[in-house]
Amino acid sequence: KGNIEFNNVTFGYENHSHVLKDINLKVRAGETLALVGPSGAGKSTLCSLIPRFYEIDEGEVTIDNIDIRAMKQQSLRNQIGIVQQDVFLFNGTIRENIAYGRLGATEEEIWEAARAAHLEAMIQALPDGLDTFIGERGLKLSGGQRQRLSIARIFLKNPPILILDEATSALDTETETMIQQALEKLAHNRTTLIIAHRLATIRHADRIVVVTEEGIAEQGRHEELIAAGG
Ligand code: ADP
Ligand code: ADP
Repeated sequence: KGNIEFNNVTFGYENHSHVLKDINLKVRAGETLALVGPSGAGKSTLCSLIPRFYEIDEGEVTIDNIDIRAMKQQSLRNQIGIVQQDVFLFNGTIRENIAYGRLGATEEEIWEAARAAHLEAMIQALPDGLDTFIGERGLKLSGGQRQRLSIARIFLKNPPILILDEATSALDTETETMIQQALEKLAHNRTTLIIAHRLATIRHADRIVVVTEEGIAEQGRHEELIAAGG
């Protein structure tokens, strides 16, 4: 579970020329794939097409050989965890935000997810703990805390596919290290993991795919790219 295929995929945002042209890419179940490349090349766009945030113009995207257009939105969402720069949080408690999509989660499961995402200490320091309100009239979280909260949500949901799109985010080193450690735990669990990020932080990728405006330019292991001076 968790095989992804792009077959001859072409996509452009409304009123814009094509960002991705005739892309072919296979990601095997359980594989960790790194997407690297210059800013604006289309890494985030490619990530967004998997949960079908946008409709492609040509070709198909499949998960376990099923065209994602043939899947119910809920079943697609259940299979994919995605962490993007603009993390989706709602006005509610920390508990509600972590348990989003997993209504039956126990107290213990929620703490376990918070711990895995390095949020335990922060939550314990709050007078209302997990019941602290966040959002408009509640506690304001930093960008890194928001990302970790969305990672906690994904731990709880435990989807077969995880996409981390940090292509454009600017996090401090400490936060980035924490997120990296949380992801390593997730990757260890089985997940098909796609990371869009700067080359320097990707240490455990099985495969590197370089995205440029011309398309997918190079594939190889990290060491091969370093050896080639990339
Ligand atoms: P990367 O993740 O590699 O930095 P993106 O996928 O964010 O690249 O962007 C690829 C191209 O698509 C860029 O030219 C960018 O300006 C454009 N783009 C990204 N998001 C949108 C959007 N929502 N609407 C229109 N154009 C967009
Ligand atoms: P629901 O799960 O109730 O359908 P939404 O459709 O509002 O809720 O969003 C579910 C998730 O998908 C959220 O994480 C949201 O940020 C994300 N999402 C939806 N559309 C987009 C988009 N165009 N770009 C990025 N993320 C999106």
